[in-house]
Amino acid sequence: MIANEPSVLANSLWAATAQPVPDCAPLDSAAEAEVVIIGAGVTGLSAALHLTQHGIDTMVLEAETPGWGASGRNGGQFNPGLKYDPDALIARFGQAMGERMLHLSGSAPDLAMALIARHEISCDALQSGWIQPAHDAASMRALERRAEQWARHGISLQLLDQETVAQMIGTRIYIGGLLDPRGANAHPLNYTLGLARAARAAGVRIHAKTRVTSLKTNGDFTLVQTAAGPVRARRVLICTNAETDGLCPPLERTLVPVRSVQVATAPLPDDIRRTILPGLQAASDSRRVMVYYKMDGAGRLLMGGRGDYSNATTAKLQENLRQVSRKMFPQLGNVPFEYAWGGYVAMTASHLPHLSRLAEGVMSATGFNGRGLALGTAMGKVLADWAAGVPEAALDFPVTPARPLPFHFLRKPAVRSAVVLFRLRDTLGL
Ligand SMILES: Cc1cc2nc3c(=O)[nH]c(=O)nc-3n(C[C@H](O)[C@H](O)[C@H](O)COP(=O)(O)OP(=O)(O)OC[C@H]3O[C@@H](n4cnc5c(N)ncnc54)[C@H](O)[C@@H]3O)c2cc1C
Repeated sequence: MIANEPSVLANSLWAATAQPVPDCAPLDSAAEAEVVIIGAGVTGLSAALHLTQHGIDTMVLEAETPGWGASGRNGGQFNPGLKYDPDALIARFGQAMGERMLHLSGSAPDLAMALIARHEISCDALQSGWIQPAHDAASMRALERRAEQWARHGISLQLLDQETVAQMIGTRIYIGGLLDPRGANAHPLNYTLGLARAARAAGVRIHAKTRVTSLKTNGDFTLVQTAAGPVRARRVLICTNAETDGLCPPLERTLVPVRSVQVATAPLPDDIRRTILPGLQAASDSRRVMVYYKMDGAGRLLMGGRGDYSNATTAKLQENLRQVSRKMFPQLGNVPFEYAWGGYVAMTASHLPHLSRLAEGVMSATGFNGRGLALGTAMGKVLADWAAGVPEAALDFPVTPARPLPFHFLRKPAVRSAVVLFRLRDTLGL
């Protein structure tokens, strides 16, 4: 069970099958570090691990325990790319930066797999590809455009016809799809805990149960305030994503935290297991309110989708996911569902993550829009580059100001209305 969460979010397959959490004692006195990282998810831990390659003295402060946030709860899909296809990204950011962003995001699963191999992280990792199935002709055309655009950047994605997608996924609800061979999947909590272990082994100090309450920057250094006293740091990296609180005021208002939930079956009997995702790819479909799914290392089917701010409605949406799973895969029969959990994803107005300098010496990387497992790992490396002295203009992601969303206080009703509208458009095929 995930600690300090309502029961509707807490019954996590990943928590139930996790390796031991590394012993990270809370901070107990004032301290100093060259770099302080706030948040021990994939972004913060990847930053910490990459900083050790520069020989930089690093401390990670985590309010709960490593992997407690979305990094330890997600769908386990290491998906390449950003929300935007190559042409749109380059149109928006220009050729040079667009290309760098494409490379960073496109190779993010490779980076994660390389860390897993180098640090011998045991997390059922498989780079078996990512299937994006299409539910209608318009979404199939969008996948064709995606394949054509990546091909111009030297990346070969495989378009799948209806029969092939039916064989690869084990359902006949789709009309075709796209296989991206760069995609990978794994046990996300064990991946995150493995990053924490590797960072500690390389000399990073990680303190769990240590919430940062404020930051005071004077230009030369920042005082990172905790209940145990301040930590004096030359640079601070904020890696709190959807769990961002009022620590650094503009940041919280640049993000809309939205619940995402998952359910998982018991391990499937072999004859059923062979019929669902036999190649062990991860999949996420192209509907606007999408579902995403994969098998875990023990042959359980996991299905994920959108949650709601209310616990009662979230429980209903989890039940809906069970029903969707049985409709998509009638071969599941009466196999029971044993886990249901969830967490928050951080949405942004641009649908892109933000790398923002909040004060002299303080940088944040947040707003992964539900695809931060690989991308957060890659952004951790970008943060480490910055903390190690790489000039902002030379980073592989643009630094943009933290612009609070207008009408941020209306985020909950706005999200609800958007989800209802998107469901309707999917149903009507608009
Ligand atoms: C149900 C679900 C399914 C998802 N599925 C996928 C998927 O399949 N693929 C994918 O790519 N992405 C997925 N995501 C999104 C992905 O998990 C996130 O984008 C990613 O984990 C973000 O990592 P992070 O390290 O930036 O943040 P987090 O993992 O959320 O870590 C932030 C940490 O900061 C800590 N913190 C916050 N405030 C403070 C403070 N003041 N002081 C100290 N510590 C603090 C929190 O306790 C937390 O541990 C999913 C998310 C959810 C919730």
